[in-house]
Amino acid sequence: MELLSQFKLLRPSSVAEAIAARAGKSGARFLAGGTDLLTNMRHGLVQPEILIDLGGVAELRGISHDAHDAHDGQVLRIGAGTTLQQLTTDPLLRDTPALIEAALAIAGPTHRAVGTVGGNLCLDTRCQFYNQSDSWREANNFCMKIAGDTCHVAPKSDRCYAAYSGDLAPALMVLGAVAEIAGPSGVRHSPLAEIYADDGIAYLTLAPEEMLVAVRVPLVANRRGLRGLRSGYQKIRVRGALDFPLAGVAVALRCENNQLHDLRVAVTGADSRPLLINGLDALCGIALNDALAQLDKLLRKQVGPMETSITPAAYRRRVLPVLARRVIGRLIAADAE
Ligand SMILES: Cc1cc2nc3c(=O)[nH]c(=O)nc-3n(C[C@H](O)[C@H](O)[C@H](O)COP(=O)(O)OP(=O)(O)OC[C@H]3O[C@@H](n4cnc5c(N)ncnc54)[C@H](O)[C@@H]3O)c2cc1C
Ligand code: SF4
Repeated sequence: MELLSQFKLLRPSSVAEAIAARAGKSGARFLAGGTDLLTNMRHGLVQPEILIDLGGVAELRGISHDAHDAHDGQVLRIGAGTTLQQLTTDPLLRDTPALIEAALAIAGPTHRAVGTVGGNLCLDTRCQFYNQSDSWREANNFCMKIAGDTCHVAPKSDRCYAAYSGDLAPALMVLGAVAEIAGPSGVRHSPLAEIYADDGIAYLTLAPEEMLVAVRVPLVANRRGLRGLRSGYQKIRVRGALDFPLAGVAVALRCENNQLHDLRVAVTGADSRPLLINGLDALCGIALNDALAQLDKLLRKQVGPMETSITPAAYRRRVLPVLARRVIGRLIAADAE
């Protein structure tokens, strides 16, 4: 691993100061827990001239039940600076087990102690030709994502297919999370899925001067409320105790009379963005086996892994429906208890 490049460290104590510190500085980056950014800097993947350390911004940390929202009722607000470890232990998350399972599946305990929700959601995309040392990439003529002209995964392509590989986003997406984003012109809200773009290089739709402040999870997800909405997350990875997802699936559902209702499925580790699967309404209220068979087809059609990881894309395409069936089976079994 190479030495870190030189950078200036700024330590704002409020969101407003952090936004002001970032304004007009293209070479600046926000630094949260640093578990991904500092590794990438050591690999020469990014060389920011300025790091804006968010660690001193107290208003970014913590989980709370917000006052009633005009449309959604009560909301769980999770600050972007909240650590992954806190997600795994906070009693306020008892109705959203997918979040706990996803957080527990991220890296190892020491990473979770400092790694944050914001850093996880804004994670750089990953590829076997990109997450390498500078000398490795130079020996392979670099690639389009950084310093090169072509893509080794799809040489005729004019885009990068590096995969979004965070675990939290799909779990938040099936729970209907909304991103709270601060920028020079104030605060705006966006469905979490919309902060991502299907592009391995420009993978976030946030403007460079914007930062993620929090995610808001509606606790009244529809007219019947969260009560009865079961959720879960499962991933496959090379080393069970540590690794990024080769593929991960989050599910939220209600089950009545052995039929699925309110089914939501989201996937990570395959495309350049976490993907909320479309067309699931048609699977609700029909025989479970038929619904699962249709879900297999929807997943195969909508998810498009490329050879961005050491595991063949074909394997990831096949394992996603298996993971989805496993999570659904587990949630239905828990419902029957
Ligand atoms: C060995 C190892 C294993 C790992 N395994 C996993 C894994 O299994 N699953 C997984 O999901 N991740 C994994 N990671 C990646 C990382 O540890 C986690 O994703 C962690 O949550 C990142 O959070 P952080 O606070 O450390 O982010 P940082 O590294 O500080 O930042 C990551 C990116 O987010 C940006 N950012 C941070 N906060 C904000 C904000 N509020 N607004 C806008 N941009 C922001 C930064 O500028 C940077 O680009 C692993 C890392 C390592 C080193
Ligand atoms: S998908 Fe292609 S351009 Fe993107 S990181 Fe991998 S090799 Fe590079």
